[in-house]
Amino acid sequence: MADKSIFIDTSKCTACRGCQVACKQWNRLPATKTLQRGNHQNPSDLSFFTYKVVRFNEVAGEPNPQWYFFPDQCRHCMEPPCLSTAESLGSKAITKDEGTGAVIYNPKVKVKVADFKTIRESCPYDIPRMDEKMGIMSKCTMCFDRIKEGMLPACVKTCPTGAMSFGDRKVMIEKATKRLEDLKNRYPEAMLADSNDVRVIYLLTDDPKKYHKHAVAENTAGMTRKLALHYLLRPIINLRRFVG
Ligand code: SF4
Ligand code: SF4
Repeated sequence: MADKSIFIDTSKCTACRGCQVACKQWNRLPATKTLQRGNHQNPSDLSFFTYKVVRFNEVAGEPNPQWYFFPDQCRHCMEPPCLSTAESLGSKAITKDEGTGAVIYNPKVKVKVADFKTIRESCPYDIPRMDEKMGIMSKCTMCFDRIKEGMLPACVKTCPTGAMSFGDRKVMIEKATKRLEDLKNRYPEAMLADSNDVRVIYLLTDDPKKYHKHAVAENTAGMTRKLALHYLLRPIINLRRFVG
């Protein structure tokens, strides 16, 4: 199966949370207890049972405040730092499907809490979560069980506004690039977030920090600290593979 990507056009997102609910339903993830925090976002963050959360950020402005909606999930990085870090720790908790590029956690592999913390720290987007009692980590799988059967990821299938698309990476990049060109007059700051490094490509209409602190990797102008760690570890991982 060809290299895949998801394109998320935030200019079309109405924050209906259909994608968030569809993810829960398809993956049979239970609801989690939440609190009213004076914000429409619910729950407050990703968790072991929440692979996708639509983030709401209200930014003061004249004449009215503005809302920024960000359906946050694993980016399925082209060279996933979480995978390199897990391998460097001798863990098989994360794998990558070489056909689609989906980065998948293995629920049968137990992870030590300290190792998980290192894996989470290596993720430029702060995505993986863990149930410490069970010793298992979790995150979005790109609905690998669906896409290998030719179906759309549940979130993409559900989105009622056309904000989410899924398909061959080349086609998604073309679609995202074309949409960015179309929106540039209206939104001069519009950008594609880290599109060369990730398979989940966000089109943002404004400064990424207005959406979410991890909307882009820490420093897209240069190499991020976490990516630097990834590249530093890569020769060690390759050596382990060679020796092993
Ligand atoms: S976003 Fe984080 S968890 Fe997802 S593939 Fe990239 S490094 Fe791994
Ligand atoms: S389903 Fe589509 S419109 Fe609704 S929150 Fe998700 S991305 Fe936005």
